[in-house]
Amino acid sequence: MLGYGKIAYVDLTDKQVEVVDVDEELAFKYIGGRGWAAYIIFKNLDQIIHGTHPSNALVVATGPLDGTIFKGGSKTTFAAISPLTGIYGDSIVGGHLGSMMRRAGIDALVIKGASQEPCYLLVEDGRVEIESAEDLWGLHSRDADRKLREIHGNCSIATIGIAGEKLVSFACINVDWDLKLRRHAQAGRTGMGAVMGSNKLKAIMAKGGGEVEVADPERLAEVVERLRDQIIGSTLYEKWEKYGTMSVIEWSNKAEALPTKNFQYTRFDGVERFGGEAVHRVEEYTSGCANCMMPCGHTVSVGDGHVTVDYENFAMLGPNLGLGDLEAIAKANYLCDYYGLDTISTGSVIAFVMECFQRGILDEEHVGFEVRWGDAETVYKLIKLIAERKGFGNLMALGVRKLSRYVGGGSERFAMHVKGLEISAYDHRAAPAMALSYATCDIGAHHNRSWAITYDLEVGRDDYGEDKARRVIYLQHLRPLFDMLGVCRFPWVELKVDPNLYAEAYSAVVGREFSLDDLLLCSERVWNLTRVIAILKKGIDVEDDTLPARDFEDPIPDGETKGFRLDRERFMELLRSYYRLRGWDERGWPTREKLLELGLEEVAEKLYG
Ligand code: SF4
Repeated sequence: MLGYGKIAYVDLTDKQVEVVDVDEELAFKYIGGRGWAAYIIFKNLDQIIHGTHPSNALVVATGPLDGTIFKGGSKTTFAAISPLTGIYGDSIVGGHLGSMMRRAGIDALVIKGASQEPCYLLVEDGRVEIESAEDLWGLHSRDADRKLREIHGNCSIATIGIAGEKLVSFACINVDWDLKLRRHAQAGRTGMGAVMGSNKLKAIMAKGGGEVEVADPERLAEVVERLRDQIIGSTLYEKWEKYGTMSVIEWSNKAEALPTKNFQYTRFDGVERFGGEAVHRVEEYTSGCANCMMPCGHTVSVGDGHVTVDYENFAMLGPNLGLGDLEAIAKANYLCDYYGLDTISTGSVIAFVMECFQRGILDEEHVGFEVRWGDAETVYKLIKLIAERKGFGNLMALGVRKLSRYVGGGSERFAMHVKGLEISAYDHRAAPAMALSYATCDIGAHHNRSWAITYDLEVGRDDYGEDKARRVIYLQHLRPLFDMLGVCRFPWVELKVDPNLYAEAYSAVVGREFSLDDLLLCSERVWNLTRVIAILKKGIDVEDDTLPARDFEDPIPDGETKGFRLDRERFMELLRSYYRLRGWDERGWPTREKLLELGLEEVAEKLYG
């Protein structure tokens, strides 16, 4: 089938690999990336016991635009039942991995079972080999990457660190360290590094030099020309090139949405010391993902290494911990990458412990030393303890939901998570659409599915109108569509590129005509599918589509939004509107009719019998 390659099913227990063609249903109903991941996980659901059990299915899926001449970056989805949340989890990573996999002829890997000995996968020339990683096990992510690159040369490498090996529930996966021409990136969210660790899978490498065959190369080239014109012609291009996501630090602080000291405050004094402008002054180089025309991998040096910085990492490991020094935040960021930890979850778990100290719920006897806001050395120490699962770090490695249950003392009310996933870096007490985005996000609170806070700023921060539910639903379909196509959403988000171009490019690649609405319907199908997986796996319903008590009870203490907190009644009304607009019942379940309308007959059958 033009535009698509093959899928490799890898059984690590029996050391078997089967490579099959992509079938039409998978291709055109689910497109690729997270769409494929959701469907494959659904098909395996009955066998999956839990996130770090060998019965779990880890899907590594590219999208149909990956590896083509389309200038929209390259994205790869890592997905499985999450060790952190127990429901469908995924994390999308940039870099060159997806492009290399596609150019090696493999669109996706479905990895099951657990190897007796440490191993890694090599994807090359339409094949997948299982290789021994005995001498890599126990290495930090960066060092494993360096060692593999010495052997294999020009390739893309995804590695886990110590945290993944030790099954830290929010362990991440790093892709490509320290290459000036390639963005160092992480699949950070939902603990996909722990899934690899439980499989004894240290790394996945792709070596691809072939060409992805597309149905209509001339049409694709013409679409790429228009995309190029829109990117270069954007008045926002220059600012993006200079700062990337780091200018959001200044924006978020001004908008009073910058999480500070575990979301107690929304502003931080001195952001100019570590925001976009400060990073721009000291950065060593900027790197990009494959096929990207607007590279955003701003990289600074830390000791003998480098770290590529982004807004979320800096917000969660900086102001959220009371830290305001660029070097210190960069070092914390670097250590998370080095050990293989998600920066957002790590920042949230450490902030939670700091607040417990502030309130006298925890003390030195519990943790072994004092923990204070803004103490960089303590932050480094805690990161290491979490990754190595030593002392109190062993409890922190469970994530903030389980940690707060252990700590007790009323701390659950400021454990900042939704469905077990730590909330990313936007305070949402004065942003009902953003709050709804977090509460209803299919993997737990994560901004990348629906970054609706700009809409709150546009139409009113105390506005709970139904249009906000509509907006969130639209974003929950459009943003994940980029992850299904295997490209970056930033050209659309940041430079306002026309999203219809993506449908045209997809049509050119596969040789069939699809409009943007057709693709959004596929994305809606996937959203409903991941919701059903959450219901079947954990009985998720309206009770779970909520936010920490802090958001409803603790008003913002200062600034122009002083006094704002979420209004429980109005929020519930907004949630009911959201369900109604989605065609879900009052429990938050997709109705049978809705599932049938989306062509999800087998899913309806499974849910309703
Ligand atoms: Fe990668 Fe940034 Fe380019 Fe997106 S804009 S493809 S994240 S380098």
